[in-house]
Amino acid sequence: MIELRNICYEHDGKQILKNINLKFNNEITVITGPNGAGKSTLAKIIMGIIKPTSGSVLYNDQDITDFSITQRAKIGFSYSFQQPVKFKGLRVCDILRIANAKKDVALSKYLKSVGLCSREYMTRELSGDLSGGELKRVEIATVLARNTQVNIFDEPEAGIDLWSFGNLVETFSKFQKEINGIFIMISHQEKMINLANKIVLLNAGQVEKLGKKEEILPFLSNANKSCKSCGV
Ligand code: ADP
Ligand code: MG
Repeated sequence: MIELRNICYEHDGKQILKNINLKFNNEITVITGPNGAGKSTLAKIIMGIIKPTSGSVLYNDQDITDFSITQRAKIGFSYSFQQPVKFKGLRVCDILRIANAKKDVALSKYLKSVGLCSREYMTRELSGDLSGGELKRVEIATVLARNTQVNIFDEPEAGIDLWSFGNLVETFSKFQKEINGIFIMISHQEKMINLANKIVLLNAGQVEKLGKKEEILPFLSNANKSCKSCGV
């Protein structure tokens, strides 16, 4: 279990996250909410990409607040960025092999699970030649290939056509059951929200609502409050 205790994050005098208390179990939790709510910031704090100004992160009762990204990766944390990272000179098969070094594991399984044909994509370079959606799929495949207990996906739908996103949602569900791990998904997608065991509605840096789909859905339409100072 991951536990966030009184997490606050301040940047340039602005309170981006305010006193977040959350628990993540071995299930799919979707974090949703308007742009700028602090979702990516929260995901980065869980992964150790940024440090909270105050508060602590616990994993299976161990305080990991001061763990680096590498330390968290070693204890079984994986992360997929909202904007996928490009690695010039590295091929898809190289990054998948780095993610999963077990020689007897067929890497093609992971490409197939994100809707990419391995014959076509395995030797492609992770550069600008791949479309945004293809890069995103490769990054998701890389996270799945790591086969870790904690998996964080920041907007897995970004850049992916809605026609095939349903298949990806099935993939997340299948892997979560296989691994029986913690899947934290930041998403606005109805299909993803429908699948979630738990939904966190984040708004203006705070947890506005937390619960099962039926309890949260009525709140989602009200989440976009306008700015008090300019009315936008
Ligand atoms: P979300 O993912 O919910 O859209 P983010 O977590 O990316 O939101 O950002 C939350 C707020 O913090 C936004 O207002 C964003 O502009 C601000 N923010 C995030 N990172 C930085 C940064 N490095 N510098 C300045 N502001 C930032
Ligand atoms: Mg974001």
